[in-house]
Amino acid sequence: MSGLNAEFIPPARPVIGEAEIDAAVRVLRSGRVVQGPEVAAFEEEFAELVAGRHCVALNSGTSALQLTLMALGFGPGDEVIVPSFSFAASANSIRLVGAEPVFVDIEPGSFCVDPEAVAAAVTSRTVAIMPVHLYGHPAAMDRIMQIAERHKLAVIEDAAQAHGAALGGHPVGAFGTAGCFSFYPTKNMHSLEGGMVTTADAELARTLRLLRNQGMEQRYANEIVGANMRMTDVAAAIGRVQLRQLADWTEQRRANAKFLDSKITSMVTPPVADNVRHVYHQYTVRVTGDRDAAQQRLTELGIGNAVYYPTPIHRLKPYLTAEGKPGDWHLPETERAAAEVVSLPVHPSLSQADLERIAEGANIAGGAA
Ligand SMILES: *Cc1c(COP(=O)(O)O)cnc(C)c1O
Repeated sequence: MSGLNAEFIPPARPVIGEAEIDAAVRVLRSGRVVQGPEVAAFEEEFAELVAGRHCVALNSGTSALQLTLMALGFGPGDEVIVPSFSFAASANSIRLVGAEPVFVDIEPGSFCVDPEAVAAAVTSRTVAIMPVHLYGHPAAMDRIMQIAERHKLAVIEDAAQAHGAALGGHPVGAFGTAGCFSFYPTKNMHSLEGGMVTTADAELARTLRLLRNQGMEQRYANEIVGANMRMTDVAAAIGRVQLRQLADWTEQRRANAKFLDSKITSMVTPPVADNVRHVYHQYTVRVTGDRDAAQQRLTELGIGNAVYYPTPIHRLKPYLTAEGKPGDWHLPETERAAAEVVSLPVHPSLSQADLERIAEGANIAGGAA
C-alpha cells in the first residue's frame, strides 16, 4: 500500500499564508489595532455571504452565541432547544446566560437537529431554538422556522461550521433571528480567534454592538451594562484575507468530498439532504463495525482522523443531573452517531495523491473494522 511510508495527512490545516501575515503586519504598523477600520470592513464584506444582513464582529463564535442570547434578553427560567450532538459551545452559551438547554435528537440523514423533535420539545418556558449546521450541512431551516413562527420563538443559528452553506439557495445565517459564525483556526475560514453575528434586525445589531463594548456607542456615554468581546483589527485583517479565498476553498472542499464519495465503499459516506449546499467543514463517515480498530488502522496508514463528538453534550459533566447521571433525554440517533462517526481529512490543501490515499485507507480501515 502506497501510504505506509508516506507523510501523515493532518485532519485539518489552518492557513496562515504570506497574505495573512502581511495583513497583520500592516495593521500592527498602522497603530489602529482594536475594533477599527478593519473590523468595519470585515463586517461589510461578510454581509455578502449572508444576503446582506447586519454583521457584528466579536472575539469568538462562543461570544457570538452568548451575546446574541443576552441581547435577546434570555436568562434564568428560559429554555433553549439545542441538539446534544454538537460542540459544547452551543449549550455552554445557553448556560452562560443562565438559561437551560433542552436537548433534542438529530436526523440521521443530516446529523442536524430533527424538526419533529424540536416541535415536541416546546414548552411554555421555551424562548428559542438553536439549530447547529453541523459539519457544514445546513439544518432543516424551512421546517424549523415554521415551528418558531407558530410558537413565536427566536431562532439562533449556530453556523460556526458552515460559512457559505445554503438550503434552497438561501445562505445559512440568513434564516433565523440571528446567525453565529466562528473564525477559529480549524474552521472553513479563520481570523486566529473570532466570531460574527448576522441579523436582519437593526435593533438587535445595535444592542450587540453596545454589548460587545461595555454598553458604549459613544465613548464614556455607557447606555447599558456590556462586556468586552471586541475583535481586534489584526484578526479582522486576517479574516478579510481568508474571506476572499473562502469561495475557492469551499469549491475545493466540495470537490474533495465528491471524490471521496465516489471511492469509499467500506464506510458510510456523509449524507446530504435535498436542496442543500454542504460546505464540508468535516467529511464525516459512519463505521458500523469496530470504530476504534478503524481509527487505529487509519492512523497507521498516516491518515489523520478524529471523532466529532465522542461524547454528546448531555453526557458531559456540567450537563449531568445532581446525581451525576444524564438527564431523562431520549436521543437514540445522537447516541448512535456518537458511537459511529469518524471525520476524514477534506480540507482544501489536500493533493490528488492525498485524496487517493485517504479513500484507499478508508476502504482498508472500514474493511478491518
Ligand atoms: C467552533 C464552534 C463554536 C464556537 O466557536 P469558537 O470561535 O471556538 O468560540 C460553536 N459551535 C460550534 C458548532 C462550533 O464548531
